[in-house]
Amino acid sequence: MSVNADLLRLIAGLFFGIALPRIPLLFFTRFLSLERELAPHPDPIPLGVPLIQRLLLMRRVHAMCWVICILPLSMGILILKSSPEPLGVGLIAGAAWFIFSRLVPLHIERGFGVLPLSLIQEVNNFREPQADCCHQQFLQWEVRAIRCKNCRYVALDSPRPDLGRIRSDGRLLGSLRILLMDGHSVFPPNEESLVGQGVELFGKIAEEE
Ligand SMILES: [Zn+2]
Repeated sequence: MSVNADLLRLIAGLFFGIALPRIPLLFFTRFLSLERELAPHPDPIPLGVPLIQRLLLMRRVHAMCWVICILPLSMGILILKSSPEPLGVGLIAGAAWFIFSRLVPLHIERGFGVLPLSLIQEVNNFREPQADCCHQQFLQWEVRAIRCKNCRYVALDSPRPDLGRIRSDGRLLGSLRILLMDGHSVFPPNEESLVGQGVELFGKIAEEE
């Protein structure tokens, strides 16, 4: 068997290992006409019941991805049990990538997963804000933060995750973006990331020395 054929099988395995668990994320809301209750992508969404319902639905879609992840993982293990096949290695590596991407939290305080329950709770609390920013407060989730439409006050400095709407960049390009970003926003979280904090700490130590 040539090296090229092995490599092709490894890449095919990797592709299926990465794409299969994300199928609910790609198709579930987008191809089931669940669009009507939300404004089309990429418009901001007012903080209300439809947004919270959609966030909870997307959480269930992410849970579905975990269930489907069993498929490439068990297929890979079954293949490797019978023969040392590169396709099996690719399937396991792709599925493992999915698992690690979910197990490593972006914010330790917020919890695990793309849509932690604590974030949804935080967004829900803004439906009854304690302090008014202006006399016509209208909070909505824009691409980069939850802001007031009228006075531009930032209520929550957190980029909007994928809400399962058909993306404005088309189905094909939109699907590719979801596959790569995994439902996260393309914008980095505005809060300090663990890596950012590490780099800052390292810089301080270097300065002291
Ligand atoms: Zn305002």
